[in-house]
Amino acid sequence: MHEMSYIASMVNMALEVVKENNAGRVRQIVVDIGKTSGVMPYYMHKYYPDAVKGTVLEGAELICNEIDVKALCEECGAEYYPKRENNYLCPECGGRKAHIIEGKGVVLSNVVLED
Ligand SMILES: [Zn+2]
Repeated sequence: MHEMSYIASMVNMALEVVKENNAGRVRQIVVDIGKTSGVMPYYMHKYYPDAVKGTVLEGAELICNEIDVKALCEECGAEYYPKRENNYLCPECGGRKAHIIEGKGVVLSNVVLED
């Protein structure tokens, strides 16, 4: 399960943020999970309590946002959400050369500190 290493690195990054801000408590940590990452929010939630045990993050809520894949067409510059019905082609020009600009990897998007 690679979720275990993802959640560990998210927790480490969040702890850095807490340290930089001299915060005592954390309300939420928000993680964006790209749909191409293969990471399941279910497992992120499952491993989270163990990952934060004994840290200032213990008790903070974990929020996982699933991010749709967004592509940028290299032929015409259109941004689009690839669809299977359309063979993942650009809806504007039918081009197949595109790169993914959103929905990749797992990113710590926010740490909500308690004031
Ligand atoms: Zn295009």
